[in-house]
Amino acid sequence: SSHGLLVSFGEMLIDFVPTVSGVSLADAPAFLKAPGGAPANVAIAVSRLGGHSAFVGKLGDDEFGHMLANILKQNGVNNDGVLFDKSARTALAFVTLRSDGEREFMFYRNPSADMLLTPSELNLELIRKAKIFHYGSISLIVEPCRSAHIRAMEVAKEAGALLSYDPNLRLPLWPSAEEAREKILSIWERADIIKVSDNEVEFLTGCETLNDDAIMSLWHPGLKLLLVTLGEKGCKYYTKDFKGTVDPFKVNTVDTTGAGDAFIGSLLSKLVDNQSVIEDEGRLREVLKFANACGAITTAKKGAIPALPTEEEALKLLRG
Ligand code: ADP
Repeated sequence: SSHGLLVSFGEMLIDFVPTVSGVSLADAPAFLKAPGGAPANVAIAVSRLGGHSAFVGKLGDDEFGHMLANILKQNGVNNDGVLFDKSARTALAFVTLRSDGEREFMFYRNPSADMLLTPSELNLELIRKAKIFHYGSISLIVEPCRSAHIRAMEVAKEAGALLSYDPNLRLPLWPSAEEAREKILSIWERADIIKVSDNEVEFLTGCETLNDDAIMSLWHPGLKLLLVTLGEKGCKYYTKDFKGTVDPFKVNTVDTTGAGDAFIGSLLSKLVDNQSVIEDEGRLREVLKFANACGAITTAKKGAIPALPTEEEALKLLRG
């Protein structure tokens, strides 16, 4: 392929979502299965836009794991780095967005297969081919997947990849807020590109309202691009030379699941072929407009993976 390879590392799981919207988990009459896991969503976002991507992670050798591996394949994502664990099961999540706007999560991780990925199992040959290595999920929390995560980052960086980090903070998964903050910040300075949400800035900095000083306190000397997603308000960008805001697109939003993954995936699908975009504010703003369009489109359909846009859909929204 003439495209650069994006390798996305971490979890892929099944989300069980209530058949009825707005209910709490306890009140759900039944659940539908939806494939999910932020790093897997990002890999699929890139391939759906015509890019070249691979997913690296571990699934259970069970019905759910094989279903997920097939979804990667059907979506054109390279799965040479996907392993099946013989003893543990695929991670499951029960997720709902209540009518009061709160998200509720329950997880099956007991432990789940993704947490058991070891450094020696990594497909290093594949990881070394990455132009961009993207990560960010719960694989930082426990061993052995924490060591596998760190080793994969190191190998990718050594081979010349840009490292892209999205913390995807989901506090219910962490033993404590303090541990989450500490472990997220412990790998902060290795990333070349970081995408955080407004809520994550508030959590990581302790500032109650989003402002430039709070955001800039997350800057580190090796960072090339810091992005803050603002939901329906678009996004902010920071580089060593310039900063700004890119306006959102107005769509009929039904479900915001996957919007952040579509946003970073679509941005990376452009950067993976042309890293110099980061140094040119005009071109960067154009790419971020594209990323905002991809995020917006994803909110107009239910689910994450089914809602991720093609290039044509994104261009259509951009043309207006
Ligand atoms: P996350 O919190 O998962 O990082 P956001 O919900 O902020 O992601 O969404 C990522 C991007 O998707 C936003 O920056 C924006 O461009 C777009 N987006 C999200 N929600 C909406 C919405 N309701 N309307 C239009 N665009 C949206």
